[in-house]
Amino acid sequence: MPRNIPKTFARPESLADVERLLAASDAQSLIYLAGGTDLVVDINERRLPPCDILVYLDRIPELKGLSLEGDRLIVGSGVSHARLAASPEVRAVFPVLAQAAEGVGSPPIRVMGTVGGNLARASAAGDVATAVLSLNAEIHTLGRNGRRVIHGRDFHVASRRTLLEPGELITHLSIPVPPGPCGSAFEKLGSRKTMFIASVSCAALLRLDAATGAIAEARLTLGSIAPTPVRAPAAEALLAGRQPEEAAFREAAEAVQAQVRPRTSHRGTSQYRNAMAGALTVRCLRRALENARNKEVEA
Ligand SMILES: Cc1cc2nc3c(=O)[nH]c(=O)nc-3n(C[C@H](O)[C@H](O)[C@H](O)COP(=O)(O)OP(=O)(O)OC[C@H]3O[C@@H](n4cnc5c(N)ncnc54)[C@H](O)[C@@H]3O)c2cc1C
Repeated sequence: MPRNIPKTFARPESLADVERLLAASDAQSLIYLAGGTDLVVDINERRLPPCDILVYLDRIPELKGLSLEGDRLIVGSGVSHARLAASPEVRAVFPVLAQAAEGVGSPPIRVMGTVGGNLARASAAGDVATAVLSLNAEIHTLGRNGRRVIHGRDFHVASRRTLLEPGELITHLSIPVPPGPCGSAFEKLGSRKTMFIASVSCAALLRLDAATGAIAEARLTLGSIAPTPVRAPAAEALLAGRQPEEAAFREAAEAVQAQVRPRTSHRGTSQYRNAMAGALTVRCLRRALENARNKEVEA
């Protein structure tokens, strides 16, 4: 079968250039290339959908921003996993994001692969996408109809499918930094110790009530156990208002296990992945709590 090789190549230098490209072309015929760690594999394996223009995003400064602005963390879609993992701001505010990024693939994959590519790829096993879902992020985009904001919770609609319209570009994420003591953590399991796609992953965020030490808000996301990363609303509700104790964490793990129905695949049996979803939930909650308490001591 022949490869679908795009007929032309564009290398815009600003978002204004992207707007001009969108206006001049049929959005269906345009595909973005960020780090290429997924897309180049698609091209080589003849999975690229037919398209006329390959748009390389590497020269657009507006996609490379990474900064704390007031009570929000702004992450450009072109920020690489390596940069996210090494950022002192990200490590301080959202360790869950840094830990997810530092576990992606291998060093070359982390240097090339980007946040935007991980989200747009919409793999159930996307590590950064799983962490982002626990952060109530706004996903900012630019498309043929202008700019819009998609709530992270609505972004992934099915395996490999997002709310993005053809030609719509993710520009950046805007992530609210929760007030008060807050900690987070990410864990994944796979069949090897390094460079593995998760068979189960978990992202947890705990916000504590500064006066009582109780859990003011809990967020839990599981990756690789459903067609998209999923939040665990029953477990989150069960934790809210409770003291952050082992018994509460174990009940939350049971609620997670009651919710998720992973399928048996080459990554493990359904029973194994279900049990590991519970185990990772407890581990992540413990680490998120430790992180929140360490921040309280530092403050
Ligand atoms: C060997 C190997 C190991 C890997 N290990 C992991 C792992 O452990 N964990 C993990 O999560 N992933 C892993 N991946 C997958 C991959 O590295 C990530 O998903 C990466 O983040 C993709 O980003 P990219 O910039 O390379 O995207 P690209 O390959 O450039 O693009 C991927 C898709 O996203 C679209 N896209 C890219 N940027 C945008 C944008 N700004 N707006 C709209 N659409 C966009 C592209 O059109 C394309 O459809 C691995 C891949 C390889 C090859």
